[in-house]
Amino acid sequence: KSVIIGGGTGFIGKHLGELLSSKGYDIMNVARMPASKNISWSTIEASGLPKDTSAVVNCAGQQFMDFTKSWTPGFKQNVQNSRIYTTKALATAINKAQDKPKVFVLVTGVGAYEPSNVNKYDESSPTTGTDFFSRLVVEWEKAAQVDPPVRLVIIRSGAVLGRWGGMIKNMFLPFFLGFGGPIGDGKQYLPWIHIDDLTRLINFAIENENVKGVLNGVSPNVITNEEFTKSFAKALGRPAFIPVPEAILNFALHPERAMIMTKGQHVIPKRVLEYGFKYRYENINDACKEFAHLFPKK
Ligand code: NDP
Repeated sequence: KSVIIGGGTGFIGKHLGELLSSKGYDIMNVARMPASKNISWSTIEASGLPKDTSAVVNCAGQQFMDFTKSWTPGFKQNVQNSRIYTTKALATAINKAQDKPKVFVLVTGVGAYEPSNVNKYDESSPTTGTDFFSRLVVEWEKAAQVDPPVRLVIIRSGAVLGRWGGMIKNMFLPFFLGFGGPIGDGKQYLPWIHIDDLTRLINFAIENENVKGVLNGVSPNVITNEEFTKSFAKALGRPAFIPVPEAILNFALHPERAMIMTKGQHVIPKRVLEYGFKYRYENINDACKEFAHLFPKK
């Protein structure tokens, strides 16, 4: 049993590799830098998948909330290409393989759905393609076309919550120091999933042959940014009264990128629940308790 993970060196990819290794899978990452468990994107393009690959997962993508990078046309292109080209490279390798893997799992985002405080989105809802992120997700998912009988599973993930990556890594210090607070009026929805549940959901998708198509990778309990702020601050035992004005984020990050924090969408994991997936962290207070430690054990 061997799994290829595009972006396996990142926050999600690394956690996934650890979970799958603990279940007896052999893991190989596709990454830009050489290392013992890494193969390069050019090797995938030139020589295809390694023999005996049973599943392929793509978690690659240039981080767009990198505050040191300005939102220039070149950087936006990098954000797009690092997702679309890696997905295409893996899909092409799968389609060319003689000995095909059983499943291709792609992690995209709930940015597929137009931000709104009134709409509710399940997996059958339309992706609108009106803003940068929804347009990106549409193109990204299109790049994942694999021929049957390979199963394609696309997980549209909410903000992935865990101590060492994504949103929590960026917010930990200000919240720990008591400088945290809601973003804007805090009323925007914050679709979220704990990192352990996302990696368990990917594992579930790999192992259950009936799972295919789009899954909303979010907790079934929808919260707002304000509710998250309260829960995280409580878990840390800190106040969180200092709001971050939307205008400051728009100025610092560019409104097109800042919308990922200033706006949100009410996303329901209808198909995930129908398949019978059991979450470990359904409730934001339980999730926050798990990662609200300066030096957690894992
Ligand atoms: P990380 O930034 O931690 O990891 C991303 C990985 O992508 C890295 O390991 C890196 O691998 C690879 N990568 C980065 N830039 C490029 C590039 N230009 N070309 C090829 N590969 C690149 O991100 P996460 O693990 O948090 O996220 C993984 C994916 O999941 C992303 O596509 C992200 O959009 C998506 N996602 C994440 C969410 C989150 O909250 N974290 C929420 C929803 C979706 P290396 O440097 O080894 O090549």
